[in-house]
Amino acid sequence: MTAYDPSNIFAKILRGEIPCHKVYEDDRALAFLDIMPRATGHTLVIPKNPARNLLDVAPDDLAHVMIVAQRIAKAAKKAFAADGITLQQFSETAGGQVVFHLHVHIVPRHEGVPMKPPASEMEKPDVLTAHAERLRAALAEV
Ligand code: AMP
Repeated sequence: MTAYDPSNIFAKILRGEIPCHKVYEDDRALAFLDIMPRATGHTLVIPKNPARNLLDVAPDDLAHVMIVAQRIAKAAKKAFAADGITLQQFSETAGGQVVFHLHVHIVPRHEGVPMKPPASEMEKPDVLTAHAERLRAALAEV
C-alpha cells in the first residue's frame, strides 16, 4: 500500500498551516466543514494520527472517528433540521478518494433533495462560518 504522504491538505489543516471551519476537536480527532459541501452542513471527521484511509487506519483511531461522526450526525440533524444523514468514506483513487488522509463525510439530507455532485461548488466563507457556528451550538446539546 502507498505510504502516508504528510503533504496532503488535511495534514496541513492539522498542523495549522491552512485554516478550516472547525466544528469539533479533541486529542484524537478533528471535524470541520467541507469547503465544497454536497449539502448544507457537510462535515468531515479526521483522526489526528496519520492514516491514508480505511485500509491502514489504526482500529482505535477509526473507532474514535466513528464515535465523533455519530455525535456530529446527531448535531447536524438538529442544526439543519435534516430528515436523515448520509455517511461516506472513500479509500484509494478507485474508491473515489481525492485527499489521502482518512476522512468520514457526514452529509445532512432532506427528503427528496439529491446531494450535489462532488466538488461542484465552493461555498462562501461567511456561509461556512455561520454553519460551523450552528453545528457547534447543536453539539453542545447532544
Ligand atoms: P474525498 O477524498 O473524495 O473523500 O474528498 C475530499 C473532500 O475534501 C471533498 O469533499 C472536498 O470538497 C473536501 N476538501 C478539499 N479541500 C478541503 C479543504 N481545504 N477544507 C475542507 N474540505 C476540503
